[in-house]
Amino acid sequence: MEIYADNAATTAVSPAVVEAMLPYFTDVYGNPSSLHTSGQKAKEALEDARARIAAQLNCLPNEITFTSGGTEADNQAILTIAHKGAKTGKKHIISTAFEHHAVLHTLEKLKKEGFEIELLDVHSTGVIDPQQVADAIREDTCLVTIMYVNNEIGTIQPIAEIGRICNEKKVIFHTDAVQAVGHVPVDVRRDNIDMLSISAHKFHGPKGIGVLYARRGILLENVIEGGAQERGKRPGTENLPAIMGMAKALEDANALLNDDIYAAQPELIAKRDRLIAGLEKIPHGELNGDRTRRVGGTVNFCFEAIEGESLLLLLDDKGIRASSGSACTSGSLDPSHVLLAIGRPHEVAHGSLRLSFDNSITNEEIDYMIKAVADTVDYLRNMSPVWRDLQQGKRSFVFPE
Ligand SMILES: *Cc1c(COP(=O)(O)O)cnc(C)c1O
Repeated sequence: MEIYADNAATTAVSPAVVEAMLPYFTDVYGNPSSLHTSGQKAKEALEDARARIAAQLNCLPNEITFTSGGTEADNQAILTIAHKGAKTGKKHIISTAFEHHAVLHTLEKLKKEGFEIELLDVHSTGVIDPQQVADAIREDTCLVTIMYVNNEIGTIQPIAEIGRICNEKKVIFHTDAVQAVGHVPVDVRRDNIDMLSISAHKFHGPKGIGVLYARRGILLENVIEGGAQERGKRPGTENLPAIMGMAKALEDANALLNDDIYAAQPELIAKRDRLIAGLEKIPHGELNGDRTRRVGGTVNFCFEAIEGESLLLLLDDKGIRASSGSACTSGSLDPSHVLLAIGRPHEVAHGSLRLSFDNSITNEEIDYMIKAVADTVDYLRNMSPVWRDLQQGKRSFVFPE
């Protein structure tokens, strides 16, 4: 059996999306900036995609800027507001300790430029309390940037509430919604969002394309210089096939969602809960993040006396493509900053496993994953000196049961 359970890292492009992209490689291939018919056809398609994506997010077409993905959108949003704030002496930025590195590393860069970066602690539930945001906002705060859904543990943040607070206090609110859009119903007006980043490859669209939504009135700062594309704010010839694919992928993903953000995908949620229930039977392990305030497709566990990488590789041998956290963390020996942020001690943060999937997964596959994880955890523990020490009472369990 082969099970791809790493959708939070990237998803397969759906056949319908591939289909929607194909004409823009070979038929409508003109440059949207060209004045001739070929170019104008491409320009029409580009603006059609922009309008369709705007409709999905409930914003205006001219509030949409196409970028190379979530990373670039995060960078541009944060740099724009920070540098604008600096002009009026506002150099305080609020974010959280469990953001994606596209946000955290941009904030680190700003810190070196003299900005004060305040990273809110994340509760053990993996959910930020809006009151924390309200308490942290100061006179000199220019930006609050908080992710919509965490990419490692899948928890959903109370974004509408946080947005309302920022709005009242007249602070710009950006959200990295890369793991949210296409998975929960996102509406920038309802959620009081000023700026939002999305990435097509997290919802069955192509890689290398994303959107930065910026509310009307926010003038974007260029991250790169060049021509007049995207009102001059994001130069470079538009990746039209990818943009058309993204529009299709977003429509298809949203068509399957309910209005309730905590119950957007009932069938998928039932499978998620089956997986959680099965993995909870493994002793001395625990689910990471709140049980219900989470997306349908992401489950993350910590197991005591386990090395996440070993677990990952042995599961790979059994046909399961999983992750120990974010793609950026794997390959390094540091435990995930997300798990540390929700208060997991180092020794268990190392033993994490993320399984992320979509509704194409079957209950049979879920059950296969549960058995494979249980067997592999057992196998690894039997070889582990740490496990022996725990058994002999020379160390104490973080998860006593
Ligand atoms: C994947 C991801 C990104 C980066 O998006 P890219 O399109 O791969 O650059 C940013 N934030 C979150 C939460 C993500 O999951």
